Amino acid sequence: MHHPATGADREPDRQPDARDLWQAVLRTAVDPIIIIDQDGVMAHVNEATEQLFGYEADELIGRNVSSLMPEPHRSAHDGYLQSYLVTGEARIIGIGREVEALRADGSTVPVALAVSEIKLDGRSWFTGILHDLTKRHLVEAELREAKHGLEERVRERTAQLETSMVELSRSNRDLEQFAYIASHDLQAPLRNVRQGLELLDDHLGETLGQHFDDEANELRDLTVAAVVRMEEMIDGLLSYSRLERGGEPTQNLVDLRLLAEEVIDQMRPELIRVGAIVEVEKLPTVSGDEIQLRQLLQNLLENACKYRDPERSLRLSLDATEGDEGMWQISVGDNGIGIEAEQRNRVFDLFRRAHPGYEGVGLGLAICQRIVERHGGDIWIESGPNGGSVFNFTVPGPTRVPSGTET
Ligand code: ADP
Repeated sequence: MHHPATGADREPDRQPDARDLWQAVLRTAVDPIIIIDQDGVMAHVNEATEQLFGYEADELIGRNVSSLMPEPHRSAHDGYLQSYLVTGEARIIGIGREVEALRADGSTVPVALAVSEIKLDGRSWFTGILHDLTKRHLVEAELREAKHGLEERVRERTAQLETSMVELSRSNRDLEQFAYIASHDLQAPLRNVRQGLELLDDHLGETLGQHFDDEANELRDLTVAAVVRMEEMIDGLLSYSRLERGGEPTQNLVDLRLLAEEVIDQMRPELIRVGAIVEVEKLPTVSGDEIQLRQLLQNLLENACKYRDPERSLRLSLDATEGDEGMWQISVGDNGIGIEAEQRNRVFDLFRRAHPGYEGVGLGLAICQRIVERHGGDIWIESGPNGGSVFNFTVPGPTRVPSGTET
């Protein structure tokens, strides 16, 4: 076959005698090479053999190769050679394996030994090529140690994580319990304060006639307003902690379009009063807890009404896009007064408010976030096209398998 000439092709250098060349290769090879006869007596060794074993070549030649092996291999070697010559059954010859080699100073070295057989003039010779495995063994030992250390660390970290998880869920439960008990038990004394105030008001009205001075009227109104506010906060906290106590949310099919229409119907008088225009795009059927999802939509739509821009009529839009892994993203957009970018994550915190001039206690969005998280979704705010806000949340679609459920 014709090979086109490449840049590397040329006439080889004039070759020395093949015998000289091979001898030089054997002599200078990096790995020890030992040639033995069929009785196991060493006939030739190269320089690398001298170095590895710590003998001069003269000391080796004529000696049985088994003297380079520690016991019990040493005693077994002659028998092994003999049985190979008789039966042809090889355990190393033509195969190669890892063995221990014995040095002049009595120390041993792990080596990979490859043996091949040469037949010359009806006699067998064997060539053993050895490769020192000390370095490889060191690296392997280091690797094993590193692996062992890593496994140990992974085990420790896993155990720590498990402990923290247990502690965390316990402290979460304690906290929920605390929020529930605190808010629940605060209701009764607060009712007493309110009733006391009303009684005091009646009593003072009777004794002083209807003629409270302005300051007394103002003080009474302020106190009543503070009590009412506290009642609202406690109610909010209670509904927030009830979300936790209710266990896992139920997994029903919920038609979000129907649900949105019901919520909008309920709010219709208020929507008409503020001249709102509501656009509801196609909304999906999702999987979740109908009562909680109703509360979520209601909180978001009521906020959109409350935080509308007094300068323009309110425009409200509900929209949905299908997301990854069977989740749906629902968007509730308004053209209201908007929320500053740095406040957009914070308004989901308990009692956090970005516009203090408005009525409210700052729990609506915290409740929304809990509901969404309990459905395995996220909630976040983006700015709307006209300076308003878009509240996005994700909920599982009907086909999504809840995490942890076997298919
Ligand atoms: P509340 O309305 O009782 O203050 P929320 O938790 O519902 O409590 O809302 C937290 C804060 O987020 C509100 O105080 C308000 O500053 C801001 N916010 C909520 N919804 C909107 C909205 N649609 N447009 C502008 N700001 C909003």
